[in-house]
Amino acid sequence: CFALYREAVAYIVDRAKARDKLYCVAINPLKVACAREDPSFAGVLRGAGVHICDGVGVALAVRLLYGRSIQRITGVQLFFDLVAAAESEGLGIFLLGATSQSNDLACRNLLERHPRLRIVGRQDGYFKDAEAVVDAINAAQPDILFVAMGSPKQEHWMAEHRGRLAVPFMMGVGGTFDVISGRAKWAPSFFRKTGTEFLYRICLQPRRLKIVPALCR
Ligand code: UDP
Repeated sequence: CFALYREAVAYIVDRAKARDKLYCVAINPLKVACAREDPSFAGVLRGAGVHICDGVGVALAVRLLYGRSIQRITGVQLFFDLVAAAESEGLGIFLLGATSQSNDLACRNLLERHPRLRIVGRQDGYFKDAEAVVDAINAAQPDILFVAMGSPKQEHWMAEHRGRLAVPFMMGVGGTFDVISGRAKWAPSFFRKTGTEFLYRICLQPRRLKIVPALCR
């Protein structure tokens, strides 16, 4: 499993250095349900250059439907591994999303853990002028843009603006900045090890159960 993360990180770093433009989406049952309801979102997911299987639900569905076994790569873990790689490779990162406070604290906590990390810019996720944000990102010239605005908003945002964004690699990271800033808890290790973070999140936010009817259709 660690080898898979290393492979994913090496692939992404190579593509970012080559200035290829692509974005990554972490596929989980919530996104599958959303894509079933909304064909434009399905197109956004298909348009991603990197898809990771972020949840046992998706791995199980692939096994049942196609008889194939795929390994999980969680979005949060891939984020941490990419940040470590960005530090050692000298790649610039931009953190877009979450509240201003959470975003600021997440940047500071990341710099504490990775003193040589180049955070070339940051912006909270509650802005009005998307064009100004795109300009600010381009001016900062990041190699990697992490977008933490929740799903499906972050995926739509990446797909809508990718043409104007001069960023080689983008990735939607949901509530990750809140975890780093300490405003939200990472699921306890039992849930992470068993790939059942969704159960933990459903306990905290029962509204997430609303996806069940869409998944059953
Ligand atoms: N968020 C944002 N802009 C918005 C709506 C949400 O930046 O317009 C942020 C919010 O502050 C939180 C994250 O997006 O940090 C959503 O986290 P959540 O865990 O709900 O996302 P998920 O992982 O479920 O997609």
